[in-house]
Parts: sequence; C-alpha cells; structure tokens
Amino acid sequence: MNYRTENIKNLETHYELDLEKGLSPDQVENHRTKYGNNEFSTQKGPNLFQKILHHLLEIMNIILLLVAVLATYLAFIGNGNYTKTIVVLLIVIINVIVSTLQESRAEAALSALKKLSSPTSTVIRNGQRQTIASRELVCGDFIELTAGVQIGADIRLLSSNSLQVDESSLTGESEPIDKNANLEITTEVPLGDQLNMVFSGTNVLNGTARGIVVAVGNQSQMGQIATLIGEQIKGKTPLQKRIDKLAKRLAIIAFGAGVLIFIINLLYGNVPLVDNLMTAVVLGVAAVPETLPVIVTLSLIYGVENMAQKQAIIRNIPAVETLGNATVIASDKTGTLTQNQMTIQKLWLSGKDIWSGGHLSDHEVTLMQNFAYASNATAQLKNGEWEVHGDPTEAAIIRFLITHNLYHPEKAPKRLAEFPFDSSRKKMSVVIAHPQYKGRYMVLTKGAFDRLAPTSQHLTHHPHILNIDGTTALQPDPEEALLAEAQQVHDEFADNALRVLSLSYKVIDEIPSKLSDLEENLNFLGMIGMIDPPRAESKAAVQEARTAGIKPIMITGDHALTAKAIAKEIDIFREGDLVVDGLTLSNMTDAELSADIEKISVYARVSPEDKLRIVKSWQAKGQIVAMTGDGVNDAPSLRAADVGTAMGIAGTEVAKSASDIVLADDNFATIVAAIREGRRVYTNIKKTIYYLLSANVAEILTMLIGAIIGWGLPFTGIQLLYINVLADGIPGFGLSREKADSHLMNQDPVGVKESLFSRGVNWRIAICSTAFIITALVGFYLGRFVEIAGLTPSHQLGQTMAFITLTLASTINVYNARSNQSILRVGLTSNKMIFGTTLLSLGLTILFMNIPILMNVLEVSPLSITHWLIAIGLALATTLTIETTKFILNKQGKKFIG
Ligand code: ADP
Ligand code: MG
Repeated sequence: MNYRTENIKNLETHYELDLEKGLSPDQVENHRTKYGNNEFSTQKGPNLFQKILHHLLEIMNIILLLVAVLATYLAFIGNGNYTKTIVVLLIVIINVIVSTLQESRAEAALSALKKLSSPTSTVIRNGQRQTIASRELVCGDFIELTAGVQIGADIRLLSSNSLQVDESSLTGESEPIDKNANLEITTEVPLGDQLNMVFSGTNVLNGTARGIVVAVGNQSQMGQIATLIGEQIKGKTPLQKRIDKLAKRLAIIAFGAGVLIFIINLLYGNVPLVDNLMTAVVLGVAAVPETLPVIVTLSLIYGVENMAQKQAIIRNIPAVETLGNATVIASDKTGTLTQNQMTIQKLWLSGKDIWSGGHLSDHEVTLMQNFAYASNATAQLKNGEWEVHGDPTEAAIIRFLITHNLYHPEKAPKRLAEFPFDSSRKKMSVVIAHPQYKGRYMVLTKGAFDRLAPTSQHLTHHPHILNIDGTTALQPDPEEALLAEAQQVHDEFADNALRVLSLSYKVIDEIPSKLSDLEENLNFLGMIGMIDPPRAESKAAVQEARTAGIKPIMITGDHALTAKAIAKEIDIFREGDLVVDGLTLSNMTDAELSADIEKISVYARVSPEDKLRIVKSWQAKGQIVAMTGDGVNDAPSLRAADVGTAMGIAGTEVAKSASDIVLADDNFATIVAAIREGRRVYTNIKKTIYYLLSANVAEILTMLIGAIIGWGLPFTGIQLLYINVLADGIPGFGLSREKADSHLMNQDPVGVKESLFSRGVNWRIAICSTAFIITALVGFYLGRFVEIAGLTPSHQLGQTMAFITLTLASTINVYNARSNQSILRVGLTSNKMIFGTTLLSLGLTILFMNIPILMNVLEVSPLSITHWLIAIGLALATTLTIETTKFILNKQGKKFIG
C-alpha cells in the first residue's frame, strides 16, 4: 500500500491500530516480525580475513616479508639455517595480530559509545506514553513529536501544530519545511513535497505532531540511501595523521641511514656482504617505532572511555584532542553552572509590598495561581509525596503552591491555546476560559520583565477585574509611578541573583488567528523572583579552568543583573570585566565585539542565535572554543564551536546530534574534567613519542657511528627488531594508562599547531639517545676489544654487549618517560600496566639471553656475570643522566613534555 496517499482510516485498519491505546506488546512483536526492525543493515564492514589482509599489506610488513624472502634465499644457497626467516615471519604475525586486535577493540569501544548517545522516541503503547530507543520503533507505532526530537522512522502525520522540520540530512534542503497533517496527497509526489509525512533521521525544529510509523530501517527513505549512512566514525584524527606522517618521515631517514651504512661497510669491506645487506634493509624497518600508531589509537580510545566514566560522552573522536587544546569555555548558566533547582524567594504584586516569606494575602495567592495557569509543569502525588515534572522555572511555581497548600489543578480553568516559550522570545502565553465571564477568554503571558514590561498606558488602563475563584477582586493601583516602582523591584530581585518572571494578562472575546496578537496590550500584574543556586562544583571548576589558561564565560537568557550576581559568586565575573546583554550585543559591530571580547565574561539576555557570533568572534582570534547548548536553536553554534557540548539531560536530540560531546550530567565541572582528560591523553602520547623515539634515534645513530669508525655493525637486524617490538614496544603500551601529572592544569593550553616535540620533548630525546648511544658503544667496545672475566673478545660479544645495554636501558626508560618527576617518585607499581609489561619485557630478555635456541635466533653469545653487571651499570648510567637532566630543569622551573 502507499502510505502517503492512503486514507488514514485504512492505515489504522492496516496496522490494527487503536488510536487511544497505541499498539499492544503482542502487536509490537508481530509488527516487528512482519515489517522488520528499525535498523539499517549498513554495508557489512570488512570481515576478519579482509582486516588481516589489510594489515598484512601495510608497507612495514611488506618490507619485512621481502626480508623474509631474502633470508630464505640466502639460507637456501648458504648454510640452510632458516631461523632468520622464521623470526621475521613471527614478527609479521605479531604485528598483524596486534593491529587487528586493537582495531576491533577501538570498534567495540565506539559502538558502545554510539549506543550511549542513541536517539529516543515518544510513543503511545498499551495505553501509556513511553520513551523508547528509536531503534525499537515498529511499523504501526503511534508516535508523538515535539520540537528538538530527531525523527526515528518514516511517519505519516495524523495531526500537527505549526510543525517545522529540518530535512537537510535527507534532501540537502537547509530551509525549514512546514508540514501539515491535513494535506491530502492523492498522487505520487517527490520526497520534498510529501508534506503529510516526516522522515527518519530528520529533526523537528518547531511545533508538535502525532503520527503513525509507516516505514522503518532499510524501508525508510534514509535507509534507501544507505550508502550515506555506513560507518560515520571512520578516518583518522588530526593527531593520528600527524603521527603517521612522523612515522613515515622516520622510515625515510632510517632507510637513508641503512643505505649509508651499507655503503660505508662496503667501503671498509669488513662486514660479510649478506649480513650487511640484511641489516641495512632491516634497519629501515627496525628503526621505525612500529608500536607508536597503535599506542596512540589506544590512548585515544582509553581517553574516550575515561571521559564517559566522568559523564562526558564523546561523539566525535577528534574531540578528545581538541578538548586538550581548548582556550575558552562558553557555558550556559542555567542548569550547567547552576543547579536548575529554582525556588521562589520573593514575589511582588503590582502596587503592593514585596512578599518575601510569611503569610500570603488573597491577592498574592491569586497571582501565584495565575502563574500556574500559565505554566505547563505538573505535579503528581506518589506515595504521599508530590512529584513535580516539567521545566524547572515552572516547577518552582508549582512547588511554591504545593508548599503553601494551594495546588489544586482540578480547579484550573480550561486551557484553549498556547503560544509556547522559546528562549528567543523569552515569554509564553496561554488562553484560558475566563473564570468569571462565560464565553470570554483570558490571556496570561509570563516571561522576562523587559519583554512584557508595563507601559504607563497599561498600568493606568485596567478595565477588567481579575479574579479566579470569584471571591476577591484584584485591581492594581493605576498610577504612573508604578512603572518606576516595577523597574526598581525588578532590579532589586535581580541584584540578589534572582531569576525574575513577570505575569501580564488581558481579557478577550475571541481568540485571534495570529498567536502573536495575543501578546499585545497586556496589563501588568506582578512578578516573582527565584533563586537557582550555583552547583557546588562550579566555583572550583572555574578556578581550575583559569589556572589552566582557559577563559570561562557565562551565557544566559537571564537578566544582566541576575547573571552578574551569580557570575560574581562563582568567580566568572571579576572586577573590570564586562557584562553585555543581547540588545547591546546586537548593536555592536563585529569589530567592536572583537575589541572587547576578552573583557566580556557574561552575556545576558542573549538568544541562541547570538552564541554563533560569540563563537566566531573568539575563533577569529585563533582561540579554541568549547560552547554548551541544549535547544534546537543552539545547533548552529554547537556545530561552529571547536568543541560543541550538548546537555545530556536537558538537551534536545538536535543539539546532541550537532555536538562533539554530550554531558551526561549537564555539569560545567564535567567539561573541565574532560579537558583535563584530553590533556592527559595528549601528554601521554608525547611521553610515548619521547620513549620510543629515544631508542629509535639511538639505534640509527649507533649503527651509523659504528660503521663510520670502522666497527662494522654494532647490532644485527634481528636485535633491532627485538628491541622495538619486545623490549620497549611492550612497556610502551602502559604509557597510555599513565595518570595525569599534577601540573597538567597549571599551564597554558597546547596550541593546535604546536609541534609534538615542543616543550622540551626534542631535548629530552636528544639527551636520552645520546646517553643510549654512548653506553651502547662502550658496551660494544668492551665486548669487542677487551678481555673480561676470561671471555675472548669478539665481534659477536661486542654486539651482544651493545644489544643488552640498549635493551635494558630502553626498558627501564619507560619509568623515566612517565613523569617529569624523579623516577624515585613515580612509584614502582602506581601504573600496573607499566609494572607488568616491564617485568614481562625483562623476563623475555633474560630468557632470550640464556636459552640456547633463542640465543641463536638473537645471534648473541653467552655473557659472564661481570659482563652482565657492566651492562646493567651502563643501563643505569643512562637513567642517572636523565635523572640529572630532570633535576636541573625542574630546578629552573622548566616543565618537560606536558
Ligand atoms: P537560560 O538560558 O538562562 O535558561 P532562558 O532563555 O531559558 O535562559 O530564559 C530567559 C528568561 O526567560 C528568564 O529569565 C525568564 O524571565 C524567562 N523564562 C524562562 N523560562 C520561562 C518559562 N517557562 N515561561 C516563561 N518565561 C520563562
Ligand atoms: Mg532555560
């Protein structure tokens, strides 16, 4: 059947849908089997075999395979010893297994994350309104749509109310589309004209609607363009790309060095041609930090998981890096910096005294009841306790009535129309049946004082008696002086950090067709002031951001005075700062804004649209901006921000899908914690680079120097591979788990373009590898030329000494890499993974140095105790050198790495 043109009644029969109750649980299951799941069967990802093949064909492995072929050929024509072939093949296998495993792990972590932030839908099932994961939807489901939701399936509309939908994700059309349930469409029309339908994956911008799900999963329009869907989180992050580039550059250098060494040795003629060739080729492979890209990926994934634990859900992996670079946090006030637990503290009835506790006069009671009539929040009695649901501002009104025993929703007059709240208008209106006059209506408008400020005309012009229960008459004093008084009262409330809400009304005989006409010519009634205390964590988090060189900014729809009072309390506003409100902002040119922006710490009475300007203006100064948002209108600024941050609780699906991270607890402190985590990840990657590259640089240069001074090859190719893959490759993984250094949030953010070798990493690598080179060459010299403990010096003994010295030094060096602090202060077991992998690595080395078959593979000769002690001494000497450097630099107050 064609659900676009079909009569609604037929649709209901078709799905056996009861519009009162929705589908029953049995029907849901039936429809699921009959019409399918609401899941896109995306094109299958590569299977295991394809993945393995993909990793096998990486350039590094191809070179290794060529080496294996060469080794086999040489063994075949030579001594028939195939150990080299086997070893090289083993390394290829390890490489492929590790890469495949880490890829699967990354994928698992990402798909778990995707589930965490997957969209939900509101349906009526079994007579009850329920919120379910959108992938649970079935054909025939009776669904409700409101502004901000992401539509979970293709839906034929049953009823709609000013419904506007953003279909850009489906059709590319960026203008909002007006939808209308009442449109009869009898012929087949193109997608863009199907105005009685809404489609999976598009967003509701405005209005409300109800409808029947008619297509799910691959049958939906979005499902049919499945190629677009696929896996969206593919591709590498900027940091990963930089690391790949670095690895490539190193490979070229290493290969160049290999060629050079080959030529030099050829000229000296002191190295067997076959060995020389093998080693030169292997050097090109061995001197590259094979494990670096893997460790980087793991660090990022681990960071993502850590952030999720801290309530920051990453939707976009590169955000892990960008967070670490953030220089500005522009945060919503209400609910993010404050608790969103509002309590009414004061109320003022036009012309009377301010109430701030105690007995309520009848008129004051009436004022509060009218506030409630103009609200959508409700309360239900559960086990003798009232439970309030709805917008926190309105919930405060309902709670106030409950506390004063005044909450009687059953007595409320009938509501006939609503012009909803939106944070650009900052007010909302309802039309209710007039409690006194049959056939007449009353308009109640509540909102920001300045958006419905009384004009003298309206204060003096008070024709109608307002009373709800028919007992008391309420007639504000018609004096012009009231206007000034109202302003004064407002400012007093706001100065005390209170959020102010005013109420106005008028009586009408007919409901106008244009809702905006409702808000003309209102009579001012009074206002309430409510406190929304800052979250306990806010002040400390603001402090942490400041010391970390990040500028915190408050953005709110509240009045400037309220905003400033709260901002002062949590130290976002400091003496000399500026508070700018929406009106002032709109009168500022871009140049003026840019000139002042560093001084503005509070934006008040702004609409979501203004946020985009704020983001852009900061970005024009090269700043990296994290911006929070929750509403539909926040999407553009969230997209524009470097780190778009959506609210997990108060946020709409639209805001979430436009963001890079979602705060599960809506808390400002969580952003700061995520930044700390981002910096930790970045620093650990730098530590890894320092750690792995120190050994690689040492390997290349030791080989080169050895060749130049005519010592032949200080290491064999296999030995180099052993160091890279086992001796320091394994412990290196533990650096991804290293905790944050204490100074991490006491320094300025890292610039996006800042080199990975900045902040002393280059010097550390230089010092460390110099120590490695010298000690390895000393080891080689002692083994090659000096008779110690009765062992005859030989080239192989020299290589063995150089090898064991560098192996031990590099394995221990993981402890040096962990921190700028002395190695004695990092704690042997404080990072379990490093402790374990270091032991594993040392254990393997002992085995390889003592079991004859393995010794054969490594091409090492047996060592005496004295040789061992010398090698250990040399290795410790490198650590001592690094310790001394740390000591000197810490004394000078210079921080390395982080
Ligand atoms: P914020 O971003 O700080 O939550 P909003 O834009 O939501 O600010 O609110 C701004 C102003 O709008 C408030 O100071 C209040 O006067 C008014 N307001 C807030 N919520 C409502 C509501 N539900 N109904 C009417 N007016 C409201
Ligand atoms: Mg709000």
